[in-house]
Amino acid sequence: MEKKKASDFRYNTGETKVPWAAVGENYNAEDLMTIIRFMMKGKGADYDKAIEAVEKDIYALDKVAVPPAKLSLDVEVAKAENMCDEYLHTKGSTFLTNCTAGFEIACKYTGLKPGDEVIVPAITFAATMAYPLSIGCKLVFADVDPITLNMDPKDVARKITDKTKMIIPVHIGGYPVDMDPILELAKKHDIVVLEDAAHAFGGEYKHRKLGTIGDFGSFSFHEVKNITSFGEGGILCSNVTEFLPEMRRARFLGTDFTKHIKDWLYEVTSIQGKRGPFVATNFSTTEIQGLGLQLQIARNDQIMKARRDAAAYLNSRLEGCNALRVQDLGNDDIVPTFHLYQLQIDPEKAGGDVQLFKKKIGDKGVTQIAHFGPLYRFAILKDYGYDEDAIAATCPVCEEVFYRRFTHFPIYGLTKEQLDYMADSILEAVDEMKRGV
Ligand SMILES: *Cc1c(COP(=O)(O)O)cnc(C)c1O
Repeated sequence: MEKKKASDFRYNTGETKVPWAAVGENYNAEDLMTIIRFMMKGKGADYDKAIEAVEKDIYALDKVAVPPAKLSLDVEVAKAENMCDEYLHTKGSTFLTNCTAGFEIACKYTGLKPGDEVIVPAITFAATMAYPLSIGCKLVFADVDPITLNMDPKDVARKITDKTKMIIPVHIGGYPVDMDPILELAKKHDIVVLEDAAHAFGGEYKHRKLGTIGDFGSFSFHEVKNITSFGEGGILCSNVTEFLPEMRRARFLGTDFTKHIKDWLYEVTSIQGKRGPFVATNFSTTEIQGLGLQLQIARNDQIMKARRDAAAYLNSRLEGCNALRVQDLGNDDIVPTFHLYQLQIDPEKAGGDVQLFKKKIGDKGVTQIAHFGPLYRFAILKDYGYDEDAIAATCPVCEEVFYRRFTHFPIYGLTKEQLDYMADSILEAVDEMKRGV
């Protein structure tokens, strides 16, 4: 079989007698069939027949097609970024391996050093704190609002010291944090605001897209978020005008790999941060991820609407129960993404707290999301000398709501029957609790 040429190879060298493609391997038709079998699983005679037909076509296609010139950081990544910029009304948003990588770049820009204080909300996922913790920053835990479960700006104000260098509001479950008072505090004390917008792509606060309000905002496209780029991915946005032209260099070793590199020896340089230069490592994404993100951004509004409809329907089923507080649907100023459906129970009226409720619901086969708990309880913090009970004493609302009141449910892509089953189970659980059975 004649060896095919990759159209032009990866470093834009144009047509050559000995191709640059000689440095690496591409994917062939057989590999693609493996990928199709992975993405579209099945068994049985009908499946085998359908797969066989595809296989025949893929091999026929292979005879006339050439592989892509590049697999990493090229036009598809750039298109995904342009779509993000259009959707979010940003400039220079940068597609990264994941959301946590975005946190790392924002922290490096800020010039965080050991001993600097970083304020995080008491309720979030471990990823929010991982990078600052890894470089020896002191995490300070802000208590949460009892209804939204988001960082309470009033407690942030109480916990700012002259060592505070960063605040990380998390739009938990896609419900917008009250950003204005946080921005005001940050401005007054020269603190960098990094929005953890992992759940928040498409949500809005006072007509601004979440993740585009603070100095930085990082989104996640991990497979369990509202949209994904083939399982992993993140977008970092920034409002720091002097950093924006540098952001893509911060993704790949100080070099903007989306542009033609003339001289490697001279184009790998440090990045200018807020307090001095820093070294960029590598968070590059693939063209396949770029394509995956484009496809899903295009349907994000539809996805958000479906989620909102599901939340509104559950609310309509549950609102009549006096022991339940349902998910807030927002208003003109507050547009949640409905990443998670938050439900609170009133322990006094229900005759029991959320622990009992969660057990009953679990027994009925209704999934709940368990990994958004008090951040200061994560075991890793003990290794770094944090005293969880001492911190808990500074976050009384978090303790009350987490242990006694709230739980999160997944709500996307469920049928009406499944939503009804959820609602029925929730109502039955509360009824059983009230009757003490
Ligand atoms: C998923 C998640 C992250 C991390 O996102 P990755 O893309 O996996 O790095 C950060 N914060 C919160 C609140 C998350 O749920």
